[in-house]
Amino acid sequence: MTLDRRTGNLFGMTLPLTKLGRIWLVVLIALAGVLAVLILPPLRQPQGYHQFADQRSLLGIPNFLNVISNGGFLVVGLMGLSFLWEERAVGADTSFIESYERLPYIVFFVGVVFTCFGSAYYHWKPNDSTLVWDRLPMTVVFMSILAATIAERIDVKVGLRLLWPLVLAGVASVSCWRWSGNLWPYVAAQYFSIVLVGLIIVLFPPRYSRSADLLWVAGLYVLAKMAEALDARIWGATRFVSGHTLKHLIAALAVYCVLRMLVKRWGYVNEAWLALGQKVKAARL
Ligand SMILES: [Zn+2]
Repeated sequence: MTLDRRTGNLFGMTLPLTKLGRIWLVVLIALAGVLAVLILPPLRQPQGYHQFADQRSLLGIPNFLNVISNGGFLVVGLMGLSFLWEERAVGADTSFIESYERLPYIVFFVGVVFTCFGSAYYHWKPNDSTLVWDRLPMTVVFMSILAATIAERIDVKVGLRLLWPLVLAGVASVSCWRWSGNLWPYVAAQYFSIVLVGLIIVLFPPRYSRSADLLWVAGLYVLAKMAEALDARIWGATRFVSGHTLKHLIAALAVYCVLRMLVKRWGYVNEAWLALGQKVKAARL
């Protein structure tokens, strides 16, 4: 993909407004989201949510396929952590220009590993109190990706400084739902964080190559959500696998696409580094 580093975004469009103007736009939209969460009437967790189509037990494990399909998260989470552990060298020709930029991704893949255990625990015995352990690691995953996007598109130091406050906000959103019964903060933490990630990707030029991989991640995320919504229909049509089981597997595939992007990308520092990165990574693939 050809991309003008100074003015272009993922789609090669000339970016509107100055950088400061675009930052203000993101901040205002984020504040509007927070305000909406505060003023909307409370949203309750529908109890029908815990009724999944495939409730077959096997080997003494209730809801067998919905429980074990979380294994995909463990596999890609550990693959991600092992890649981050091995990828020691830093520079324009590697996946991280500065070593500390891998921190949001460490948090991301740790969150993915814990999603495996949290979600398996929930599906073993689906109710509101076990759902907390499914949702907690997921908010860590979404918030760390938001922090990484801010770091790689707007400002490295700002993104890294926001990492822990964002993760804390995600954890707080789940706690808020558990103790007050209002689901809006959690809905915002999961869906609004994705909206902000998309907005930042459209509005700001990347620090690394392989931005187009994020379209795969977005596509798989939408597909996973569709499978989740069609849980009973897919189960009815196949009588073998339910939409929710497929959702777990597709979501793990989306995480794999994030890892693939990290493995294959190189940094944009200046034209010379860009050329070096292209050459080294091309030789490695
Ligand atoms: Zn699930």
